[in-house]
Amino acid sequence: MSVKIAFLGMPNKVGRSAYLIKGSRKVLLDYGVDLGKTPQFPDPVDVSSLDLFVISHSHLDHMGAAPMLYVSGDVPAITTPPSIEISDLLIRDFMKLSGEYLLFEYIDFISLRRNVHLLGYRKPFLFDGVSVTLFDAGHIPGSAQVLVEMDGRRILYTGDINTYETMLQSPADMDLGVELDAVIMESTYGNSRHPDRREMERRFVEQAIETIESGGTVLVPAFAVARSQEILLILDKYDFPYEIVMDGMAIEVTKILLSQPGYLRDPERLRRAFNAVRKIYRWRDRKKVVNERCLIIAPAGMLGGGAAVFYLNKLIDDPKNRIFLVGYQAPGTPGRSLLEEAESEEARDRADVVYMRFSAHADVDGLFRFASSIEGDPTFYIVHGDGDARMNIGELISDRLGYRVVYPGHREEYIV
Ligand SMILES: [Zn+2]
Repeated sequence: MSVKIAFLGMPNKVGRSAYLIKGSRKVLLDYGVDLGKTPQFPDPVDVSSLDLFVISHSHLDHMGAAPMLYVSGDVPAITTPPSIEISDLLIRDFMKLSGEYLLFEYIDFISLRRNVHLLGYRKPFLFDGVSVTLFDAGHIPGSAQVLVEMDGRRILYTGDINTYETMLQSPADMDLGVELDAVIMESTYGNSRHPDRREMERRFVEQAIETIESGGTVLVPAFAVARSQEILLILDKYDFPYEIVMDGMAIEVTKILLSQPGYLRDPERLRRAFNAVRKIYRWRDRKKVVNERCLIIAPAGMLGGGAAVFYLNKLIDDPKNRIFLVGYQAPGTPGRSLLEEAESEEARDRADVVYMRFSAHADVDGLFRFASSIEGDPTFYIVHGDGDARMNIGELISDRLGYRVVYPGHREEYIV
């Protein structure tokens, strides 16, 4: 029996991910949404025909539509313990922001939770002739690469992947030990190189200290999941001498991560650093803290909401202050606009805005190294990349490694 991969999301951009593996059984890998003014969903699937559903990690572009599968169904699901806990938090937040557009209720997520089999890395899950194994993807805690073995075929889906060690996590597992027939590979940074991480860490800490020493306040709007904790660990590594304040969902996420220490590189260090942080829960404290010489870590990372927006409005008009954007800023987001305005003449009398990309994805070198580590003679299906990111890494893989490379489009199907 042939095995097919159907691309139900948007494989030609960084966006909603959904891949259906169809052979003697049907396995769905991720079911995510595109965020924006109104969320966009992947193609519908016939839930009654599904045998298994796997969540690679807890970002909404990978699992934001997952509760839809449980409105009328009860498909067995697989993911890691941190992924389900963080998903719970992010789905509730998503419902608060976009509930009116969603085709599910929180109770459908509860139904998903009831159907989840929690799985650690490198432990095969056998189900009706299908085997699913998760490998560490190094992207955010609990993130997984997914190996599906069905009808004599082996398909690897990378999910989002980071091949570099960060303060928070070990790099992606690149020792899978099996020959593959197909690799569905992300390519977010398939056309760019990250700046030197250690050098950037040093610059970040130096500039933050300099701002506070000249009487200012530092704001770091950061993603609640993984980035806020990474920033905290970097500050700890360099013995940051001033008070660190944390606000919003970053606090809850850190607590979840500390309850799953096996998925962290150095849980004791995170625990120590987090204990020393001043946590803010009340408006009275927020209003006070903006007048203090300290560093504030607060989501959302692209300034689309959350406590960071309040702090930004209070801090932006004083040139003594500094704002560090430490992650990807999608076009159309307030974070991207702030970056663009920072170049203008008027920005001179405002707080300094600095962009530093502490990425959780592999860059082109990392992706190439990952592809080089693969065994067998697989076809690479390059997904999850904007512009020429897919082609750039795809050409490197076909030219230098000699593998067949495919750039699938929305709704296309390929035989493995
Ligand atoms: Zn992700």
